[in-house]
Amino acid sequence: MREVILIKNGELALKGMNRASFEDVLIKNIKRKLKDLGNIKVIKAQSTIAIEPCDDTFDMNEAAERMACVFGIVGFSRAAVAKKDMADIMSTAVTYLEDELRCARTFKVEAKRSDKSFPLKSPEICRETGAYILENYPHLTVDVKNPDVLVTVEVRDINAYVRGSQQKGAGGMPVGTGGRGAILISGGIDSPVAAWMMAKRGLELVAIHFSAPPYTSEQAEDKVMTLLKKVARYSGRIPTFVVNFTKAQQDIMNCCAEEYFTIIMRRMMMKTAERLAAKEDCQAIVTGESLGQVASQTIYALGCTDAATSLPVFRPCIGMDKDEIVRISRNIDTFETSILPYEDCCTVFVPKHPKLRPTLEAVLEQEKNLDVEALVEQALADTHFRMIKAD
Ligand code: ATP
Ligand code: MG
Repeated sequence: MREVILIKNGELALKGMNRASFEDVLIKNIKRKLKDLGNIKVIKAQSTIAIEPCDDTFDMNEAAERMACVFGIVGFSRAAVAKKDMADIMSTAVTYLEDELRCARTFKVEAKRSDKSFPLKSPEICRETGAYILENYPHLTVDVKNPDVLVTVEVRDINAYVRGSQQKGAGGMPVGTGGRGAILISGGIDSPVAAWMMAKRGLELVAIHFSAPPYTSEQAEDKVMTLLKKVARYSGRIPTFVVNFTKAQQDIMNCCAEEYFTIIMRRMMMKTAERLAAKEDCQAIVTGESLGQVASQTIYALGCTDAATSLPVFRPCIGMDKDEIVRISRNIDTFETSILPYEDCCTVFVPKHPKLRPTLEAVLEQEKNLDVEALVEQALADTHFRMIKAD
């Protein structure tokens, strides 16, 4: 029996003239995600994409599992291909869905007929298929409101498809349709969530991590790479820059008033990120900041941070409570890694009494004690690159 994965691409359908190019990006992302499983054929038709493997060794279970992580997909299901005649559709339904139907008590048939030349209309397809299923599985009864198994028959241009229940997709927009952004990634809970949220809106990710050896360890860096690998399951591969910030931080500590350490460091992170963003063709910077979470995330501090860059700064967690952020981090499987106890450069140099209401004038005054440009330049020169892919 020929089997396919049918993919529904919800919000894409709203994109009018752009729809085709959005779909093309989605298909490219799907192909990349399945590349190592074997060759596939992709058929596009009416807001559904059908993926058909070209050989028998293709692992459909694994492929279906991976589809749950592809943004731009609202729902998907495995389906059997049937000829466009009722006898074949009905016999395909009883054999393909045997396991599900045997375990169920109730079922319902739904039909979608996009080929209007098919001799039976949707209600007739449902009635005939339903009757045939009841003949073969007499223990079943029909429940149109809340069936255990929903059997769907789709009659399309080339083929008919028979499928069971649909699985929920990751939603959002295909990665790459929303431009490119640089995520400032720490080992914490918030920034991997922020990365995931923006990838969900179609942003392609480049990652920047600031380390401060020997104050921060190799394990701390590995932890960040593990987090990125988990995000990459959704976002696709992430070009990652690890920037050595030790000298910058030491100079800040030696030359600036303690209450301004964090804010000046965050501004320097922005400036460094802006330079990498320009090189990497990123149109925005992304952080995991959340209003009021810590001193550097008061509205005043965020204002001073924003003033360090002319790029838009996306902060998808800005209006979220910690427990909401934690919920997402559990769902995307970053939480357990995020809570591992490794130091971050932000936590190594923490002032005892950070300024909660810094003014930009005061911050700029403090920065006069530093050669900011030279420090940014030096940090950029001491940067290493890693391409992060999902495991
Ligand atoms: P997170 O949980 O993501 O670490 P946080 O609550 O610990 O966030 P901060 O440490 O103040 O908050 O950092 C705020 C944001 O700054 C982070 O979400 C991240 O985007 C960025 N950031 C912090 N530390 C680093 C770092 N070492 N490298 C790159 N970005 C960082
Ligand atoms: Mg942090």
